[in-house]
Amino acid sequence: MKSYHADKDGFYGSFGGAFIPEMLYPNVAGLKSRYLEIIESPGFQKEFRNLLRHYVGRPTPLYYAGRLSEKYGCRIYLKREDLCHTGAHKVNNTIGQILLAQKLGKKRIIAETGAGQHGVATATVCALMGLPCIVYMGEVDIARQAPNVARMKLLGAEVRAALSGSRTLKDVTNEAIRDWINNPEDTHYIIGSVVGPHPYPDMVARFQSVISEEIQAQLRELEGRDAPDYVIACVGGGSNAAGAYYHYLDREEVGIIAVEAAGRGIHSGESAATSALGRTGIIHGSKTLLMQTDDGQITEPYSISAGLDYPGIGPMHAHLYTSGRGEFHSITDEEAMEAGRELAALEGIIPAIETSHAFAVLKNRPFRPEDILVFNLSGRGDKDLQTYIDFFDL
Ligand SMILES: *Cc1c(COP(=O)(O)O)cnc(C)c1O
Repeated sequence: MKSYHADKDGFYGSFGGAFIPEMLYPNVAGLKSRYLEIIESPGFQKEFRNLLRHYVGRPTPLYYAGRLSEKYGCRIYLKREDLCHTGAHKVNNTIGQILLAQKLGKKRIIAETGAGQHGVATATVCALMGLPCIVYMGEVDIARQAPNVARMKLLGAEVRAALSGSRTLKDVTNEAIRDWINNPEDTHYIIGSVVGPHPYPDMVARFQSVISEEIQAQLRELEGRDAPDYVIACVGGGSNAAGAYYHYLDREEVGIIAVEAAGRGIHSGESAATSALGRTGIIHGSKTLLMQTDDGQITEPYSISAGLDYPGIGPMHAHLYTSGRGEFHSITDEEAMEAGRELAALEGIIPAIETSHAFAVLKNRPFRPEDILVFNLSGRGDKDLQTYIDFFDL
C-alpha cells in the first residue's frame, strides 16, 4: 500500500534522509538506532501519556465552532492545542524528547530557537526534569523576542547568543550543531519541528500524532465517525500539521490542507511560502523544498508570525505537496490578521498569528454544507498581542 509516512531511512518519497557532516554521524546514528524501540516501549508510553495528561492538560478539547460554522456554511471543529501548557502544541514534542533523552542517559539538553517558542517549550521540560538547558538564539532574535528570553531565563535555561552570520535562525542551528558535535556523549539536541536529519522528522511527527489520535476518538463521539472531510493546519516547519494529519495520511478520503505564510505576497520577495517558491535542496541535514537563490544560498524568509518564517518545510510536507496528496495555500499577513480577528470576534478565541493563517483558507475556497472541517488551533494569541495592537491600531 502507498504510504505517506517515513520509510526506515526517513524518506518521504524522495525527501528526507540524513545528509549530515561526518562529524555528526555518531550522534545521529545513536538516536536512529534506538528511538523506535524506546518510544514504542510500554514503559515510555506510560510516562509520556501520564505527563501529557497531568502536566500538559491533554486531551485538549475538540470544540464545535457554531458561529464560525454558520458564517461559512459548513461544520467546523477546532482542535484546541492553544490550551496546552505553555500555550501551543510544541510541548507535546519536547515532553517526548526529554523522556527519550533520559532513557538514552543524556545529562544536558541543547536547542535552538528563532521566535523563542521552542526555546520556552524546551526550557520548560528541562525545568520539569532538572536537566541543564542551553538555548542558542540569534542576537537579532534575542532583541526582538525579549519576553520569551525572559521566560527561558526564569525557567533556568541559559540563552546563548549566536554571533556569526546574519545572526538569525540558520546561523544559530550551525552553533547548536557545533555544540552537539563537541558533546556527543552527554548531550541531546531537541529539535522543535518535523525538520532536521532522520530520525527527527519521524520522531517529532510521532510525538505530535497524539493530536490526530485524539481527534479520531473525539469525532467518533461527536459525529459518529472518526475522520473529518478536511484537516487544516498552518505550516512553519510542519509539526503541528504533521500531528493533526498523522492518522489520516494514508486515508485518501480525508482532505489534507496545509497553509503557509505568504508574508507581503508570494512574489514580494518577503514571504515564507516554501512550497510555492521552494526548490529541492538540503537544509538542516534533510533533503526537502526550500527557498533559495539560483546558486543555492538559502533565502531569508519573512512572515508577520515569527513561528512561520522558516525557509524550508519538513520532508513529509514536501512530499505531500509534490505528490498532490496535500492541498497547499499561501496566506498574506493581512489575510491572516483579519482571520485572527474574525475568530476572536465570532468564537471568543484569540489565536496565535501562525494559526490565524490556517483560518484564512475559509475565504479562499468553498466547502460543502455537509463538510466536516477540523482546524488545528496550534497556539494562543497572548504572545502576539502587541502585533495585533500595532496592526489594528487597537
Ligand atoms: C511554532 C509554531 C508554529 C509553527 O511550527 P510547526 O512546526 O509548523 O507547527 C505554528 N503555530 C504555533 C502556535 C507555533 O508556536
